[in-house]
Amino acid sequence: MISIISISQQHLLDLERIAKESYPVEACAVLEGTLTLIDDESSERANVLGIVPMRNADESIYTFRIDTNDLINTYQEISSRNMEVVGIFHSHSSNAYPSLTDRKYMELNPVVWLIYSTLSQNFSAYILDDIVIQIRLEFSSSNHAA
Ligand SMILES: [Zn+2]
Repeated sequence: MISIISISQQHLLDLERIAKESYPVEACAVLEGTLTLIDDESSERANVLGIVPMRNADESIYTFRIDTNDLINTYQEISSRNMEVVGIFHSHSSNAYPSLTDRKYMELNPVVWLIYSTLSQNFSAYILDDIVIQIRLEFSSSNHAA
């Protein structure tokens, strides 16, 4: 189970900018990187090494949806770079907590869900393990962005 997401300040700034540019429509992006075992190897850290901005097919201020073909192409691109999809990012104009719709998509995409609230201007990260669990967000010291 993933218990930590590690991301650089620069990537957070980039995501914040994407969210503000898209406001009030929800912004979304795929987070690529690697998974590493931590502690007694019972949990994993998601290391974000790149972000791929995506189009919100809903163009909605309450929901987001990534077109299935866009998502498949992005998964293929990321895999061709020998990386994994470690997270899905999107923004909320309300608080940074997964909505019921988000929860449904969290079941289909069991990765870290990183949400930025343009209201409170902060990030929160979650995974779904039967229930929604908030996980720790850690700043990585280096920026491996390509
Ligand atoms: Zn949402």
